[in-house]
Amino acid sequence: MEDNKNIAKNYDPKEFEERLYNEWLEKGYFTPKVDREKKPFTIVMPPPNITGQLHMGHALDNTLQDALIRWKRMQGYETLWLPGEDHASIATEVKVEAELAKKGINKKEIGREEFLKHVWDWTHTYRERIKKQLQKMGASCDWTRERFTMDEGLNKAVREVFVRLYNKGLIYRGNRIINWCPRCMTALSDAEIEYQEKQGNLWHIKYPVKDSDEYIVIATTRPETMLGDVAVAVNPNDERYKHLIGKTLILPLVNREIPIIADEYVEMEFGTGAVKITPAHDPNDFEVGQRHNLEQIVVMNDNGTMNELAGKYAGLDRYDARKQIVNDLQELGLLVKIEEHNHNVGAHDRCGTTVEPLLSKQWFVKMKPLAEPAIEAVKNGEVEFVPERFAKVYFNWMENIQDWCISRQLWWGHRIPVWYCQDCGEVIVSSDEPDVCQKCGSSNLKQDEDVLDTWFSSALWPFSTLGWPDKTEDLEYFFPTDVLVTGYDIIFFWVARMIFSAINEMGSVPFKHVLVHGIVRDSQGRKMSKSLGNGIDPLEIIDKYGADALRFTLVTGNSPGNDMRFYMERVEASRNFANKIWNASRFMLMNYDEELVNRYKSEANDIRNTADRWILSRINEVAKEVTDNLNKFELGIAAQKIYDFIWSELCDWYIELVKPRLYGDDEKSKAAAQITLIEVLKDSLKLLHPFMPFITEEIYKHITDETPSITIAKWPEFREDRNYQEDMKSMEYVIDAIRAIRNIRAEMNVPNSRRAKIMIIPSNEAAKKAFEDGAVYFEKLAFASEVVFIGENEIPKDAVSQVTEGAQIYMPLEDLIDKQKEIERLTKEKEKLEKEVERAEGKLNNPNFVAKAPQKLVDEEKEKLAKYKEMLEKVIERLNALK
Ligand SMILES: [Zn+2]
Ligand SMILES: [Zn+2]
Repeated sequence: MEDNKNIAKNYDPKEFEERLYNEWLEKGYFTPKVDREKKPFTIVMPPPNITGQLHMGHALDNTLQDALIRWKRMQGYETLWLPGEDHASIATEVKVEAELAKKGINKKEIGREEFLKHVWDWTHTYRERIKKQLQKMGASCDWTRERFTMDEGLNKAVREVFVRLYNKGLIYRGNRIINWCPRCMTALSDAEIEYQEKQGNLWHIKYPVKDSDEYIVIATTRPETMLGDVAVAVNPNDERYKHLIGKTLILPLVNREIPIIADEYVEMEFGTGAVKITPAHDPNDFEVGQRHNLEQIVVMNDNGTMNELAGKYAGLDRYDARKQIVNDLQELGLLVKIEEHNHNVGAHDRCGTTVEPLLSKQWFVKMKPLAEPAIEAVKNGEVEFVPERFAKVYFNWMENIQDWCISRQLWWGHRIPVWYCQDCGEVIVSSDEPDVCQKCGSSNLKQDEDVLDTWFSSALWPFSTLGWPDKTEDLEYFFPTDVLVTGYDIIFFWVARMIFSAINEMGSVPFKHVLVHGIVRDSQGRKMSKSLGNGIDPLEIIDKYGADALRFTLVTGNSPGNDMRFYMERVEASRNFANKIWNASRFMLMNYDEELVNRYKSEANDIRNTADRWILSRINEVAKEVTDNLNKFELGIAAQKIYDFIWSELCDWYIELVKPRLYGDDEKSKAAAQITLIEVLKDSLKLLHPFMPFITEEIYKHITDETPSITIAKWPEFREDRNYQEDMKSMEYVIDAIRAIRNIRAEMNVPNSRRAKIMIIPSNEAAKKAFEDGAVYFEKLAFASEVVFIGENEIPKDAVSQVTEGAQIYMPLEDLIDKQKEIERLTKEKEKLEKEVERAEGKLNNPNFVAKAPQKLVDEEKEKLAKYKEMLEKVIERLNALK
């Protein structure tokens, strides 16, 4: 035990947070061993993107994980919290590109290799920064096992999975419609698109029928794509068009002949009932095109300009081309009308550019066969979402899943492990770089230029980080992991993909529980964002209030699955709580006489009194409840319970109850109080440790040497031998009575210096005994001059009363107030209130005021009036009682 009197006078987290963290690292408390005698408990940290600093969302995410890990560690599990970072392919590439542009460096000019050097520099800087931030938060993760999605082991895992999926026929390369970002010039997956309703137009265009005066009108939101039209489709049952099916149209502007085809997909009721078919620029048209064996004509370049197949529009940007085309159609008299039309437009979530559905040759993962067992795993409870409602989000996504486009036209990321023989065209898919073509023996091989979608590697995170594809001890022992903690916003991107990847590669789900949390909003409920400038930097909060205060605020403000608001007032309250604990602990240590305690330690159980047994029972109960809450992932409720216990029962009640004994002469009683105080404090600190790791450790070291650190202390468990039901009941009687008396005194404005006699009619024998034993508490905490028991026939006339479960309590009025003075005071009060009532009534009876004043003012006035009337009634009541 450290010199216990030596605890610093004031709570100053700066003095110990960093010191303690370094000590934990040095001692290796966060590094578990593979120990078959013990059960493992594993969490893999959602790897933060190396795009920048950690924000409040990370702070929440990691606080929740750390709390779970610290709790399980104290329960005796071999706990592994595996940290790491994500290379965040496109997000990082966009950032670094922008950084370089500021210095006048162009990505294309310096080339792939040189650009990647810059990204690696960036990576080193930001990985280090993220690590430091997590350490400041107190994250008890095992840094010896830290991983990065682009480190050697994970590269190996990525290539291995690619090859395996390819060999199973689950990865293919094909021409399909994908979402294309013309700014970033890469394919995107559905999950990277943000949809927004935008005002647009619907252009109605005439397509003349060949050798006839007839025409068909089609409507489109993207006229520029008409240059790639290969047909117009109508419903086979549509009477308007039946006679035209099979005939030919002249596509305006390019004068190409295109057929009129029949397809059930066309809705007769929608628009004109005729739709243009552009297989290379629309996913639905692509399907129709496949059914009817139509050509695919791509009319756009990768950068969003029109290509040579667009004829005279070649080279124009897609939107300029649109304008030009509309003008030309108008001149030709082929534009029927322009209708205003709101529709959902998809934008790239990283850059905001409107994406272009485009036919493109890309790599895809065939999703249906992978999704099925992943859906089943959640249905049969192998993976449980907390809260359960998020399973629906998951099902909805998985049941409607499209093939996953995994190739990206970027440089930063895992390069696709595919080589093309330049001599015979052979496609070689291999986890190791091949030297020669297995078909023709040529060494003229070229690797695919593209990289993989960033989520391809993070999908493997729960097992790739443990050493897969090698059969490591870690993998065998720590996998499957126990809980995944993450925000609801990445259930599709990440959670779903981890589940099907693990099932496919490992034959097991990657984790048993998914604890879903919401996002941290500002105090007004807005998303924290750069553009609003309302973000709060967790490091600034830590600097000002300490990591414990931040963590406690985040945990107690959070309930699974829901967004939370971040209030500075709540951080202050958390800091005040830390202060309270500090001061209470310091008080206990100051009043701790080691020699005395040692003398009586062995007989502690015999010398304890009711109050001691009550507080021991209560912490025993709280330990059970907190454990139950944690088992159900109710971290916020658990933290709140410890808070309430420490603040109210331990500090406000027990410490006050034992003060007379601490200052008294009865050695045994004094020793019992001191022993109990420290014991309850110790258990309280343990229960609080997962949420406030630093302050609990700092105090723990001063009060016990049970273990060298609280991080490895034993989690308090419910003990039947500490379940003193009778003592709890007794103390409840006393505390309720004291509360009642305090209420009376507060209501009547009685100063503490004015003592009053307390007369009690106990409800039963046990209550009577409790009051007898607790007489001293009434004296100290309820300012009693004396406590007497009376019978029903002895109730005094001029007395105020309160009824509790254990007693009817009476206090003589004359003890509480000076009757004459009180009458004078109340009379004055009455006059004042009457005036206020009159004023408010006058205002409200004035039709001018009621008609012209804003409703808010009128309502306020009404509220005031009601309040004054109520107060007046009470004053009159009190006056009557006195007279
Ligand atoms: Zn983009
Ligand atoms: Zn070859």
